[in-house]
Amino acid sequence: MSKDDSDELDCAVCFRRPAIFIDIRWNYGFVIAWRWRQRRVSVCKEHGEEQAKKFLLRSRLLGWLSLGSAETNRETIRMDRAALEGLASLPPASGDPHPPEVRCIECHRGPAIEIRVRYFQRLQLHWRTPLVCREHGETFANEYLLQALHSSDPISWLLNRSAIRQNRAALVALKGLTPPVDNVGRD
Ligand SMILES: [Zn+2]
Ligand SMILES: [Zn+2]
Repeated sequence: MSKDDSDELDCAVCFRRPAIFIDIRWNYGFVIAWRWRQRRVSVCKEHGEEQAKKFLLRSRLLGWLSLGSAETNRETIRMDRAALEGLASLPPASGDPHPPEVRCIECHRGPAIEIRVRYFQRLQLHWRTPLVCREHGETFANEYLLQALHSSDPISWLLNRSAIRQNRAALVALKGLTPPVDNVGRD
């Protein structure tokens, strides 16, 4: 991790610097089906630690629920711990050239909120909790709602009943959000 890397990056959440790339992963199982998600994100110390701890906690709680996932889960936990170690030497983000307003991951406009969307297909959970503006949030939530409404098998159909409620709740929350406005001067 050279100094040059962090000079060019800003945090994907708050747009402050310095930031570094971290690789985080979480692992989850559902009886016999299990999978993991991995993300590479540029983050400041504060937001990196927040994300890495969240991922680590999920793996610790949910990673052991399925048969055969133990080895992958151990790797996952090692990866998240390594991310936390990398962040430990990063100085806290300084300055505040951009308002700490939450912005959409798709268009970088605000206001944005975090929505929770998910669906099950073939016994696998697909989920996301993106920070999105009203416009992109509706795209996400509708896509997940559509998937949840078309279950591939009876168990997924059962599990999708609560997923449908959750995706609809996300759409309701987005309705209360002001449509995005163009940002002033993100350099
Ligand atoms: Zn940040
Ligand atoms: Zn957007």
